[in-house]
Amino acid sequence: MSVAVNKAGAVLHTFILTASIVLLLVCPACKRPELFREAKFQIGTVVTLSAYGSDQAAIHEAFVRAFAEVERLGALMGNDPSSDVSRINDAAAGTAVTISPETAALIATALDLSLKSQGAFDISFAPVGKLWDYKAQPFVVPDKETVAASLKNVGYKNLTLNGSSVIKTRDGLAIGLGAIAKGYIIDSCVEVMRASGIEDGIVDAGGDIRVFGKKGNRNWVAAVRHPRDTSGLLMSFPLSPGEACATSGDYERFAIAGDGKRYHHIIDPRSGYPADNFISVTVIGTSAMIADARATAFFVMGLEQTKEFLRQTPDCEVILIDQQMRCYASSSLKKRIQLIDKSLLIEWF
Ligand code: ADP
Ligand code: MG
Repeated sequence: MSVAVNKAGAVLHTFILTASIVLLLVCPACKRPELFREAKFQIGTVVTLSAYGSDQAAIHEAFVRAFAEVERLGALMGNDPSSDVSRINDAAAGTAVTISPETAALIATALDLSLKSQGAFDISFAPVGKLWDYKAQPFVVPDKETVAASLKNVGYKNLTLNGSSVIKTRDGLAIGLGAIAKGYIIDSCVEVMRASGIEDGIVDAGGDIRVFGKKGNRNWVAAVRHPRDTSGLLMSFPLSPGEACATSGDYERFAIAGDGKRYHHIIDPRSGYPADNFISVTVIGTSAMIADARATAFFVMGLEQTKEFLRQTPDCEVILIDQQMRCYASSSLKKRIQLIDKSLLIEWF
């Protein structure tokens, strides 16, 4: 009798042991969550995808889909000969060019921001933008006459969007989506990852990010780089689920000319010269596309115009750093900013 009990106990024990091994094998979600990360060079920058979870295979699958989405949108919005952008740029004035709904949505947002920023943000900056070739050896500052001549072809009002159709009113008008497409692509990647079942993650394209969910019970944390010592960080702050954060800086793409002056890639479309109000602008909001575009816009607009914009449209927060390393930040950020560089003084507004 007692033997039978022992036997039954042993059978039960073996069953529980086997069941838990099987459970571990077939239920990856029951494993402890960990951080998975994959990076690729895409759309001219490093795209890094992160997910906090336990099903490694499902996460990898989601990453594959998200990288494919970056590739697809990059081909529409970049400078490939067959992209929507190139087709617009190659078109003659008065000819309607039909573009993808995605690029049309992006252009609609860009035109709206051009209006609100009084032309500081302008995707038609491209004819003057191409005069500033930072990769050229040696780097040559374009002469004033050339800059003035190319400005004749700059102006968002010379571009009309009707649904998914674009018409230019000047042959020489050309656009570039470098200040806004990255943000749009980040938002789309977040959607792809979530639709693939990932609940917690980050999409990072060259330092512009959008988070979703959390890392366990903690919010994801973002940081602002030191604009003059890019290996160092100035401050960090937590991002709530769904928030995005984008930075425009004069340290990303620039050249130092013979006169010792720094010329960089954010152009004031009204003067044709690099904007020199700020050296770093960070925007935090709920859309990566809007944060990306506004970071560039505020960079050109300068302090007073940016403050006025935010009074009218108080749906994002900013961290602005000027040439003298003075920092101005939205007072609503006070409770979440953690200073890393203690020498930085912040004026809250
Ligand atoms: P990054 O691409 O380094 O993150 P930004 O988001 O600020 O930086 O975008 C800068 C890019 O935007 C430039 O490289 C150029 O392609 C484009 N650009 C420059 N000046 C303007 C402007 N005033 N309005 C719209 N786009 C601009
Ligand atoms: Mg931008």
